[in-house]
Amino acid sequence: MLRARELLLDVTPLRGDCGKICGRACCEVSDPDAGMILFPGEETLFTGYKLVKMTGVSDGEWPLWRCDGTCERRDRPLACRVAPLTPTIRNGAVSVEMDRRCAFCCPLVEFGVSALSEDFVESVRAAAFILAEDPACRAFVENQTKHLDMVCDILLSSIISPERPAPDERPPFEPD
Ligand code: SF4
Ligand code: SF4
Repeated sequence: MLRARELLLDVTPLRGDCGKICGRACCEVSDPDAGMILFPGEETLFTGYKLVKMTGVSDGEWPLWRCDGTCERRDRPLACRVAPLTPTIRNGAVSVEMDRRCAFCCPLVEFGVSALSEDFVESVRAAAFILAEDPACRAFVENQTKHLDMVCDILLSSIISPERPAPDERPPFEPD
């Protein structure tokens, strides 16, 4: 985990400061219950965190660290260092992808991974493989991947109206 943190110390999603295009939206603290989830072992680096339960995915409890919207780069949690990407593990395959849970605040999400700095993406990918070597971090990433998929399923079902017919139930298109 420390190696992954070190690898991501200086890289940023864009070559410039992406915070200038969104007003540092991901650091805005409007929800008193919001915070950055900590990777296993990271809690030893922070004080004042609380435990949150990741309901709907597993019975696991994870530390959540609340910042006040400012931090020194060297202090940032891993979750902030990889954003708007997230490491994923599905069926044993390690990867990185856009964290679609950030879609409501991060304008970069809709542009996809290829819009981000190559150095950044490769560093997050390398960090993902480092994290996957550690059993606790691997289990955490697997759990977070399930959470990501669950949230995306919920978001998708909320924008598809139940009244709207499925594509194969719609009447065939008939030109005038
Ligand atoms: S919300 Fe996205 S674009 Fe804005 S600072 Fe965070 S990562 Fe950068
Ligand atoms: S820890 Fe730093 S980078 Fe992360 S949300 Fe807080 S202010 Fe932003």
